[in-house]
Amino acid sequence: MLFEFKTPTPLEQHTFKKFSFLLKRDDLIHKDFSGNKARKIYYYLHNFPKKIDTIISFGSIQSNAMYSLSIFAKAKGLKFRYYAHHIPKHLLQKPSGNLLAALKNGMELIEGYEKIKVQENELFINEGIANKEAYFGIEFLAKELIEQLETAKEYTIFLPSGTGTTALFLSKAFKMLQVNNFEVVTTPCVGDSAYLKEQFFHLESNPIYHPKIIDTKKRYHFGRLYQEFYQIWLELQKETKVEFDLLYDPKGWLALMEYKLYEKNLVYIHQGGVLGNETLKKRYKVFLQIKEQL
Ligand SMILES: *Cc1c(COP(=O)(O)O)cnc(C)c1O
Repeated sequence: MLFEFKTPTPLEQHTFKKFSFLLKRDDLIHKDFSGNKARKIYYYLHNFPKKIDTIISFGSIQSNAMYSLSIFAKAKGLKFRYYAHHIPKHLLQKPSGNLLAALKNGMELIEGYEKIKVQENELFINEGIANKEAYFGIEFLAKELIEQLETAKEYTIFLPSGTGTTALFLSKAFKMLQVNNFEVVTTPCVGDSAYLKEQFFHLESNPIYHPKIIDTKKRYHFGRLYQEFYQIWLELQKETKVEFDLLYDPKGWLALMEYKLYEKNLVYIHQGGVLGNETLKKRYKVFLQIKEQL
């Protein structure tokens, strides 16, 4: 085995602001993978096309998916070429975080999506590993939850979305497995609800399989810093002793608090991403200091 994914991942009981919820610790699936990236990549672990020697993908410069793919490529002895829309100068001179780690794993980085080219010996993986093949691994996540929860009870299973692949396929898997008491709810972190719905349709044309979308009244832009993001992230860490991701989880928690999802039997999926916190924590430190001085 190339990788040992530690499954089933634990389901823990926690409290936050006096309400209790269950936390699915998919962040613990593998030390080098963001939780849901491990699930999404699982298919390729076991079904990798023989004539392929290179993986191609694209997306943001500090993406968790990029880092996970670099680990995967290295372990499989594959080349990995990644396209970023724009590479900030300071990162080119002094890479950090996910980018530094991915480059150390041998990733080749190219600026400009217009340069994306895929040859016969190369496998193209969509931004954020938003491929149909991701269903395979996410179905295992659904099966673990079915084992760990009571299928006769009603649960709200919440997770924040980027591409929406994880939430969509989790929702679909429950329906395919005929578990109708588990409702998957998500919130968009990239773009708005309409954009997320569109993403769902790219991967699944039948809307009965789509998860429910909620959104905060306030609009947040992906990758930007917000005082309330840091605050809820810190409060969560203090109360649960679990480190959440700083990019997606704060928006997720703000949305679920706004919609009072804690009044239901709530299961929160921790999708990993903590490795990416390193650079965000540094940025927040500067951001919050400047705010204080104002
Ligand atoms: C990638 C990622 C997401 C978004 O997953 P999608 O399947 O693209 O919606 C959410 N949280 C974390 C921590 C991630 O790394």
